[in-house]
Amino acid sequence: MPHPAIRLPAFVLLALAAMTSNTHAADLPAAPKTALVIHGGAGFVPRDSINDADRRAYHAALNRALDAGNKVLSSGGSALDAVTAAVVVLEDAPQFNAGKGAVFNAKGGHELDASIMEGHGRRAGAVAGVTTVKNPIKLARTVMEQSPHVMLAGAGAEAFADTRPEIERVPNSYFDTDKRRQQLEKAQREEAAKDKREARTGDGDAPTYFGTVGAVALDARGHIAAATSTGGMTNKKWGRVGDSPIIGAGTWADARCGVSGTGWGEFYIRNAVAHDICARVAYRGDSLQAAADEVVNKIVPAAGGDGGAIALDSDGNIAMPFNSGSMFRGWIKLDGSRGTAIHEDEPMR
Ligand code: ASP
Repeated sequence: MPHPAIRLPAFVLLALAAMTSNTHAADLPAAPKTALVIHGGAGFVPRDSINDADRRAYHAALNRALDAGNKVLSSGGSALDAVTAAVVVLEDAPQFNAGKGAVFNAKGGHELDASIMEGHGRRAGAVAGVTTVKNPIKLARTVMEQSPHVMLAGAGAEAFADTRPEIERVPNSYFDTDKRRQQLEKAQREEAAKDKREARTGDGDAPTYFGTVGAVALDARGHIAAATSTGGMTNKKWGRVGDSPIIGAGTWADARCGVSGTGWGEFYIRNAVAHDICARVAYRGDSLQAAADEVVNKIVPAAGGDGGAIALDSDGNIAMPFNSGSMFRGWIKLDGSRGTAIHEDEPMR
């Protein structure tokens, strides 16, 4: 303010007062509009097949992932950091089919796939078939940020990880769990019992549980990011790559919409599921819920597949459709309300 001895005309004083109050208004922190949605896989998991201790452990792991992502978002961090943080927690939780607890392939080992995408700049990174990377989502992000490529697979992805000391490595047996070994043995017994015609045509029973993990976040700047990580499908042929690391199939983010899918990957690839949901929002003006519902509940089942998806748009709307009876999931909405759930019609936890 001018020295009180200096007399200024009234209109100048008014203008100065207006400038001062504008500055104060601009300094006030706007209520941060952030949202987060996560999944730990879709599947046909009967309610009574989960005992109380396991149920508590699933909800606790989902809540830890929500907390990790939300800590980033509520302190003004990026959607990219938020989805990375949430997915790392889910990869480390042995309950889910990603990182520790990943399913076994037909050779009794683990090959992990992951991808990440940032909507506003359309940056993306992915890895497929990695075997010694503790947190594949971190390597996918490193491919995005530190290489000219979008996807690295197999030995090349491992060699890239060798050049990045910050990427933690583990023996392949680190990913083992008894539950997944039993699932492999059961799947192999069932396969052996199948008749030869089925084996020749490649027809098989629908898998009963998927378990991939994923996250989609909206940050205070209005940016969206999506991330997905998986061990793939039990008893998969070695070298098989599913939808999770494929941008547009298992993961997608653009300026208005982000998706992470979980389901029978071959059908998600053939139907470009994650991109199709966001394309319906972008090109047809569909609501996020209508777009996600139609793709997950009509297009995927009509093609013979099953699974679910989580989706989030730049207005903070969240959709979590699944056609498989259950999907481990959690959310924090724009208004701060949050919950985790496994089945349909489940009370919020
Ligand atoms: N979509 C994954 C895949 O096919 C499986 C899953 O969602 O659990 O590899």
